[in-house]
Amino acid sequence: MDVAIVGGGIVGLFTGYHLLREGASVTIFEKAGLGHGSVHAAGLLEPFRIWYNRLNTLSNIKKMLRFLRTGATAVRSVDPYWLATFIRTLGKEPPSEAWDFMRSVASYSWEMYRAMAEEKNDFEYGVPGFIELYRSERDLEAALAEIKRTPLGGDVETVEWRGYAGAIRYNDVAVLSTERFIERMRRELAGARVVAAEVTGVDASGRVFVGGKEYRYDVVVVAAGVWSRRLGLPVAPFKGFGWRVKSASRPQTPTFDVDGGYIVVPFSEWTKVTGGFDLDGGPSEDRAALFLERARNLTDVLDVVDFAKGYRPCTPDGFPILLRDGDVVVATGNCRLGWSYGPAMGKHAADLALGRAKSFPYMDRYRPNMANARKGGAD
Ligand SMILES: Cc1cc2nc3c(=O)[nH]c(=O)nc-3n(C[C@H](O)[C@H](O)[C@H](O)COP(=O)(O)OP(=O)(O)OC[C@H]3O[C@@H](n4cnc5c(N)ncnc54)[C@H](O)[C@@H]3O)c2cc1C
Repeated sequence: MDVAIVGGGIVGLFTGYHLLREGASVTIFEKAGLGHGSVHAAGLLEPFRIWYNRLNTLSNIKKMLRFLRTGATAVRSVDPYWLATFIRTLGKEPPSEAWDFMRSVASYSWEMYRAMAEEKNDFEYGVPGFIELYRSERDLEAALAEIKRTPLGGDVETVEWRGYAGAIRYNDVAVLSTERFIERMRRELAGARVVAAEVTGVDASGRVFVGGKEYRYDVVVVAAGVWSRRLGLPVAPFKGFGWRVKSASRPQTPTFDVDGGYIVVPFSEWTKVTGGFDLDGGPSEDRAALFLERARNLTDVLDVVDFAKGYRPCTPDGFPILLRDGDVVVATGNCRLGWSYGPAMGKHAADLALGRAKSFPYMDRYRPNMANARKGGAD
């Protein structure tokens, strides 16, 4: 079977990985280099924290208002269709099958990274846990209450941290170097064809358009992050920034200053700093420096090795989109957790492409929107 994948971010890479193992012929269209859209991430694998993704809950709205005040987030552009979907689904609970499905996605992804590291740990995989710092006791209590409510649970404890009201330590969080993992995936995907091009459209009969040119495949998997908006799907871009820096002092455990909006993760040869959760699909980087500056609270910055920005593809309810419409498969919408869910997203996208699965509960909830967009002539 001849499969095209649009997008070589973490979801596209895992889709290619699974398809190649199943004997498919794989072509990846990537406009900016394999891994480009995902490399900026902190590298935390926290698949049991889907509540973290859920934007359309009242508790998350409260949090976002707080983050607007602390500068941890900013709102610069809102897609009216995304906003309408957000309002329509506000406070609505996904069905229990959706939670069951995400529980299996979480376990599969967790196990797959562990198995890949066992085969060869060339991507600095470890399970150091993760610490979240809170400035007020009320916010700490609210976070603990939210963790208790989540159907996926979480292995957490509270710890003390100087200068903060308190901290939560998550024991079930693993970490990897995104840079090294992308190198690993390049090797794993040596059998795939990579086309350096920006796709301008796809259609339900398996065609991929690049400018005036047209290519035909048995199936096209769209794993292009926020670009999937073009297919009539409610995916908003939440922009963030990532740096690799050289530092002499830093926390030994990945640490998140929640109200500051930045994360510091130690690796053997560098420290990763990430920050920003801005509803902003534009190219500007004007807010980036703020987070690097704030991160100096937890680490010194002797030198900046490199910098990248990315756009979290967020659905209003924080659950991913995995569906097949004709000969197009879509795998996106992982918001803050694309790395955490990448292995299972890729596996399920491959299963849809190969015809081994028809649909997944709730993950195909926007299929009618996609069909309507097609009728309306969207590419
Ligand atoms: C600051 C920050 C920190 C983060 N930290 C974590 C973390 O620690 N753990 C975690 O689980 N998640 C994290 N995330 C979220 C994670 O990065 C995203 O969920 C993930 O990148 C989404 O993966 P994706 O493959 O769906 O899309 P993307 O990563 O956006 O990849 C899509 C790819 O498609 C390509 N593309 C797009 N349009 C086209 C086109 N038309 N033609 C060809 N190619 C195209 C892009 O160049 C890109 O490479 C973080 C995000 C940010 C912003």
